[in-house]
Amino acid sequence: MSRGRNRGPKPHNKGQQEALLNLPVSKNEDVEVDIIGLTHEGEGVGRVDGYTLFIGGALPGERVRAKVLKVKKQYGYAKLTELVTASSDRIAPPCEIYKQCGGCQLQHWSYEAQLDWKRQHVVDNLERIGKLQVGEAEGITVHSTLGMTDPWGYRNKAQVPMGMSEEGGLIGGFYARNSHRIIDMDACLIQHDQNDEIVRHVKAIGRDLGVAAYNEETGEGLLRHVVVRVGFRTGELMVVLVTNGSKLPRVDAWVEAIRAQVPGVESICQNINTKRTNVIFGDVTKTLWGRDVIYDYIGDVKFAISARSFYQVNPVQTEVLYGKTLEYAGLTGSETVIDAYCGIGTISLFLAQHAQRVYGVEIVPEAIEDARANAALNGIVNAEFAVGAAEDVMPQWLEQGVSPDVVVVDPPRKGCDERLLETLLTMQPERIVYVSCNPATLARDLRVLEDGGYRVKEVQPVDMFPHTVHVESVTLLQRQ
Ligand code: SAH
Repeated sequence: MSRGRNRGPKPHNKGQQEALLNLPVSKNEDVEVDIIGLTHEGEGVGRVDGYTLFIGGALPGERVRAKVLKVKKQYGYAKLTELVTASSDRIAPPCEIYKQCGGCQLQHWSYEAQLDWKRQHVVDNLERIGKLQVGEAEGITVHSTLGMTDPWGYRNKAQVPMGMSEEGGLIGGFYARNSHRIIDMDACLIQHDQNDEIVRHVKAIGRDLGVAAYNEETGEGLLRHVVVRVGFRTGELMVVLVTNGSKLPRVDAWVEAIRAQVPGVESICQNINTKRTNVIFGDVTKTLWGRDVIYDYIGDVKFAISARSFYQVNPVQTEVLYGKTLEYAGLTGSETVIDAYCGIGTISLFLAQHAQRVYGVEIVPEAIEDARANAALNGIVNAEFAVGAAEDVMPQWLEQGVSPDVVVVDPPRKGCDERLLETLLTMQPERIVYVSCNPATLARDLRVLEDGGYRVKEVQPVDMFPHTVHVESVTLLQRQ
């Protein structure tokens, strides 16, 4: 900051402020810039005289023209106006509503380029935040991202908000970017075909029955969301109508029409949510017809999935991810394993078949109920589950003499709690397998574990969410 700026008269407007800050660009200016990277949100990163501009829609390797929208001291935002030199990896996004929707961020990039970037994003974080050395000869091996052979139609769950068209008919689709206006949609390319088809049927049934969609602003109207889940392996289908109120007029007609139009449906549920919130589900779920749950498999393990259960949304890649986790765990059948942040126990049960004993811990009580039920469903008796914060429960286990050979952690985006890492360093398992959905917190936590005597051996990025910016990976650490 210049001295003159502090002492001189107060600048009157933004333009003067920018000039005084000596920024190389100003608002509304047109600039031409090379794109040198992509942020974790999928925006192109450009530099003008060392000043960083984020440019949505621009891809690494491109030269673009852009109009500056907003300038801050350290960085600014600009709008892409023209591709001067397009990337050879740029493609026409296959989805018609890609720009309006915002659910995917990378559809304008070839799938190969997406996978390369996801690996590079992990490498950059390990080096910059983790101060780790990545390399072929020496250092950590970061493998190529394991992608999907067919990276479309991978989601097993659709949660579609309902609204009314201008003409007053029931529509359902997605919220327009940065708004709560609902845009009607008939097909989402990353959704399992059947989910799209069922949503189309349910919308038509709703229109026939004259149902009004819930209106967020007034709090009136009945149908809030339609949620559809499909078991990829079993083909079983569940339809959930989320309603603003417990009464569903003409419920028999609903059930009859859904059963007639959705072959394979095993469960039709109603979830009641009367709260003024954008949380999808309320606390009460009623089964209108059929079972309370559908079943699906990950590997050989069978899972019961209820309307509200957390279950991985890309079952094909989940098997790839857990397969790597199992490989890195290096189990021979005699090990004690802890699965921290275990959710409904998917990894725990996946590993239990290959270990002596597995302990899972998770903070959401309903998830642990599901984990126990799923253990029973599979006749797995060597897995036990605890409700609580992993950073509280792990020290208790330590005190009780639980001595794990392998610990798997799969934390939320904010990464592992410091106390959990400390406990790990006291427990001294032979191997730690870190499943991560955020390379930045992964890198931060790996630094702590390295400093505590562990060596990061290899990292395997796995593409769980093609065409989005999500980067998932599995890391193997070994005690020195
Ligand atoms: N391993 C599971 C779920 C991972 S998602 C799977 O593969 O399906 C991360 C989980 O951590 C979520 O279920 C979340 O509820 C849980 N969680 C968040 N903070 C936690 C904490 N402090 N202690 C234990 N679990 C926590």
